[in-house]
Order: sequence, then structure tokens, then C-alpha cells
Amino acid sequence: MSEKSTIYLDHAASTPTDPQVVEVMLPYFSDIYGNASGMHKQARASARAIDEARRTVADILGCTPKEIVFTACGSESDNLAIRGVAWAQQQAGKGNHLITTPIEHHAVEHTIDQLCDKFGFEQSVVPVDRYGLVNPDDVAAAIRPETVLISVMCANNEVGSIQPVADIGALARARGIPFHTDAVQAAAYEPLDVDALNVDLLAISGHKIYAPKGIGILYVRRKTPLLPVLTGGSHENNRRPGTENVPYIVGIAKALELVQSRRHAENERQAALRDRLIAGVLDRIPGSQLTGHPTRRLPNNASFVFEGCEANPILMHLDMAGIQAASGSACTSGMPEPSHVLTAMGLPHQLALSALRLTVGKQTTDADIDRVLELLPGIIEKVRALTPTYQATV
Ligand code: PLP
Repeated sequence: MSEKSTIYLDHAASTPTDPQVVEVMLPYFSDIYGNASGMHKQARASARAIDEARRTVADILGCTPKEIVFTACGSESDNLAIRGVAWAQQQAGKGNHLITTPIEHHAVEHTIDQLCDKFGFEQSVVPVDRYGLVNPDDVAAAIRPETVLISVMCANNEVGSIQPVADIGALARARGIPFHTDAVQAAAYEPLDVDALNVDLLAISGHKIYAPKGIGILYVRRKTPLLPVLTGGSHENNRRPGTENVPYIVGIAKALELVQSRRHAENERQAALRDRLIAGVLDRIPGSQLTGHPTRRLPNNASFVFEGCEANPILMHLDMAGIQAASGSACTSGMPEPSHVLTAMGLPHQLALSALRLTVGKQTTDADIDRVLELLPGIIEKVRALTPTYQATV
């Protein structure tokens, strides 16, 4: 799968595990395998590895190790943050109102929807502009006396737009409302200092930052009210029970350390690839449009819509040519409905169905971009030729 004849441009969906990450994980499968809660040498070795990983993550986020919770994925981190705070606030009689945006990942969107449908909460969904950006003034206007949580993602998984998180966090803090951000897509590219971001809860996923699938992180600021979603042992400071997944915890800490230490150089390199891809596509393919903000976007995200096309045949042709891409959020691929992100940004239904997301990564080269630019115009032409409604309009 890693042979160079294929070009992987779906890093927003998942990344390959970094060999340096695999290397630090390996001893914790068969050599150091003790349950970290135990009282013997094996157990102490596991506990030490977890402590060290927690300290590494805390140093990067600028918080204390106690504020870090290891989970099984980004979705679980979002669930724990949102349900945990909402339920704790409800129990304390603080209120039942949540504020969010229409472009959140389903891990956030569906969690809030369920809280509203089944648990007596209400939500205000603040609008986004045509670039997918939230205006902090709209968040401020949505706040009510009974607002108990604000959730706005750091960077969008489909179009890469980067939100003014610190500004939204500042206004949440001024009103004493806990603020959660889903930083799953941003964690490899944006600074994660939780004080500078003014966040109380921040979610990270391993497999988006060159660690394996099946591990996540939730930062929870001290004193944030949070009811555990799972019940069981006292692991993770009583916030997330379950015997700790030591190799994966060690792995995600190493991965976060690597992506954050290489962030400046990699951001510059990947942004140059992204910009060449964007300029090349817009220049060579008539009827193409960039989605998301032209500059306030993740350095690895180039996403487009194409008049007169549907995404699935484009993806199929790309795949046959050895180029792996996505039509939007990986979790919604295969559904015939257009992306909720693109429709919230005001794109017409039919155009939104043509979304193509190309996300570069650590191994992407200039030659990969050349190849895409060489092949994509012909593929779009082929797909359009098979789309009768498009032929009728040209
Ligand atoms: N949040 C965002 C923005 C994502 O892109 C994803 C995954 O696509 C998730 C949350 C869920 O992360 P995980 O796959 O680790 O559950």
C-alpha cells in the first residue's frame, strides 16, 4: 500500500503511524504489559510510562498532567467533554442551553442533538459565513443565562477553515461558561496552548497525528464540572474508567511531540504544496471553486467543488489512477446527502454533491501534486461528459 505509485491525499481521514511512534510503542505490548493499577514491578513500569506520556502531553498543552484524560478516540473525547459537562451542569441546576455551530463533526453534532432530543437540552446553532467561519459576535448574541456549554471546533475536517477559537473562548470565560473545542484536525498544525486558546476542554485524536487509530486525548481544565460518561474504576482521575491502553498512550504522546516540534517547518512545506494544488486546479479546471477560507485554512487542506459533477465518480477515477482522496468528511462518505458543512456555508445542494477534498501530509511530494494536476482536469471532463444535466448547460 505504501508503494510510490499510489498517492495518498486523505490525511484528514487518517494518517499512517509514524515509524518513530511504532518504535516507542513496541516494548509496551509484550515486554512491559502490567496493569498500571497493580502493585508490582511490571505494573509500576506501565504506570511510569503513562505518567511520562501524560506529562509530555501536558507540557505541549501548557497544563498540568492531571488535566489530561486519555480516551479511545476523538469521538469519545468530544462525547466526554459535551455530555460530561452538560450532565454535570444540569445536575447542578445551572441550566440546559448549549451553543454550537452547523459545521461540527458528527461526534459533536450528534451528541448535542441527542442531548436535546432525549435529555431536555436546547441548542443554539450560530451561523457560519460562506467560508465556514463563525463570528464571535454571533456566539455572544446566542448566550443566555441558562447556557452551560459552548462548543466550536478549531479547524474544520472538510474545508479546513480555522475558527477564531481564542476570541470565542475569551467571551465564554468572561461569562463563566465552559468552552469546548474539537481540535482533532488542528492538532498537527496549530499551537495547542490551552490558556492562549481560552479553552476548558480540547479534544485530540491519535490517528490524525500519525499515531494509531483507537486512542484520543481530552484536556479538561481544573474545576470544570464533568460527569463521567462511562462508569467503572477510578482511572484517569475518576473521569474515564478502563485499564489504560499503555502502548497507545505512549504512542499518542510521542506523535503529538513529533508533529508539534515539526509544526513550523511542516506547515510551511505542506502549505506550499496545498497552494500549488489550489492554484493549479482553479487555473486548469473551468467551473471549479475552492471551498473554505482562502487563507485561514489548515496547511494541508485543498477542497473544491466542480460544476456538473458528482463526487463519487471523481473519487473512483482518481482511485483507479492511484490517487486516494475523499469527498468530504470520511465518516459521511457513501451517503447520498450533501455535506452539512457545505450546505451550512450556503453551497447549493447539487454543487455540494461534487465536493472533493485533497489533504496532503508528511510524505506528500511536489511530484505527487504534479501528478494530480496532470490527471484531475481530464477526470473532471470525463465525469462531466457523463452528466447529462451539465451537458445541457454548456
Ligand atoms: N472531530 C473531527 C473534526 C474529525 O475530523 C474526526 C474524525 O474524522 C473526529 C472528531 C473523530 O475522531 P475519531 O475518528 O478519532 O473518533
